[in-house]
This record gives sequence, structure tokens and C-alpha cells, in this order.
Amino acid sequence: LQEQILSTEKMNLASRLASSVAHEIRSPLTVVKGFLQLAKGNLEGKNKDYIENSLTELTRAEYVINDFLNYAKPQLEKMETISVTETLDQISQTVSSLASLHNVNVVIDANEKLWIRADQLKIKQALVNILKNAIEASTKGGTVLLKAYRESDNIHIQICDEGEGMTTGELTRLGTPFYSTKNNGTGLGLMVAFRIIQATGGHLEYKSEKGKGTNAVVMLPTVNG
Ligand code: ADP
Ligand code: MG
Repeated sequence: LQEQILSTEKMNLASRLASSVAHEIRSPLTVVKGFLQLAKGNLEGKNKDYIENSLTELTRAEYVINDFLNYAKPQLEKMETISVTETLDQISQTVSSLASLHNVNVVIDANEKLWIRADQLKIKQALVNILKNAIEASTKGGTVLLKAYRESDNIHIQICDEGEGMTTGELTRLGTPFYSTKNNGTGLGLMVAFRIIQATGGHLEYKSEKGKGTNAVVMLPTVNG
């Protein structure tokens, strides 16, 4: 018991620290990016390349904050009853600029009133990380479907894309820290998603076919009444 208490305290401290670091780094990053973007306008040739490389690296640092450090927010232990349809609306808003960048349509199919018990920020982070991957895997003009429904005592949230898909070998590597096939990938997004969903008492399953698309299914216990 003693050991468990100690390790829990350390976890809380670590996640509080990560949260502060995320916050403290994000603000100067935004300022530096802004100034570099301004400076870039007046430059040509090599100097312009230097600035562009700097902006690319700063964007990478932002990805790490968004995929990983964000997840360690201190309010994480706040479990509440939340609406699935509202959550899906909010996460599709969050990814709207990424979706338009990739020319991908995010469609929501969830008419029923569905409720889950979860930490709102945490579960949104998990779903956003899954959804961002679906958008990034999609071809231009493609659709990502967010579908939620009740299946006995569980709520299923499906994130379906018609994108590049994965082989069985690739599927087995999902959630492994730093596994990424992307140039600017952190390989942390799904590790975080798996952890959050597990902590919420749910499961995350992936089905995929290379060249056809991927279906991520988040299963969470529902709230009755
Ligand atoms: P990152 O997105 O930074 O690469 P993730 O942990 O979010 O890291 O995802 C790990 C890898 O899993 C991705 O690089 C990609 O190869 C694969 N992946 C995840 N989701 C999908 C998807 N919907 N379609 C195809 N590949 C995917
Ligand atoms: Mg990702």
C-alpha cells in the first residue's frame, strides 16, 4: 500500500509538471513562430530556407505538446457524465483546420442521446488523437465518419476513414511509443489514446485493410438514466 501511495503521488507530480511545461512552452513558441513568419516575408534564398526550417522544427515541438504533454493536465481525475454527441461536435471543431488542410470531410452520425462517464478533457484528447490520424491517412476529398451508438451496456464510437489503411504488421505496432510512419510524427498520439481509454474503463480496437481504410472503435461503459 505504501508503495502504491508513493507512486501515485509521483504520478500526480509528474503530470502537473508536464502540464505546466506544456503551458509554459506553448506561449513562447507561438510568439517565436509569429515573429519568424513576419521575418520570412522580407527574406529570400538561403536566409528564407533557414527561417522555414526553424518554423518546421517549432511545429514539431507543438505536435509533441499537442499529442502528449497536453494529456497530463492536472484536472484529469475529474470524472463526469458527458454527452457523446456534444463531445463529437467539439472534437470535430478542434480538428476542423487540419481537416480543411487535408480536404477531408468529417461527418457525424449520432442521433441518439448517449452518455458516458469520463474525464472530459482526457477523453477528448484520446478521440482527437485518433481522429487526427484518420484525417492524416485520408486521401483528398475523403470522408471520415464519426459514428456513435449503444451496444448493450457500452457506447461504441467508431472513427472510420477510407484512407491508406494498415497491414497486420503495422496494426500490431499501434500504441507503441514513438512508432510513427510520418515525417513529422511524434508516435505518441495513440499511446496516449490507449492509456486514456483504458483508464476510463474502456477499450480501443483497430480494424484496417491496406489501401482501403481503417476503423477505430472506442468502447466505453455507458451511464444509465
Ligand atoms: P503519429 O500520428 O505521430 O505518427 P500516432 O501514435 O498517432 O503517431 O500513430 C502512429 C502510427 O499509426 C501512424 O504514424 C500511422 O502509421 C499509424 N496510424 C494510426 N492511425 C491510422 C489510420 N487511421 N490509418 C492509417 N494509419 C494509421
Ligand atoms: Mg497521430
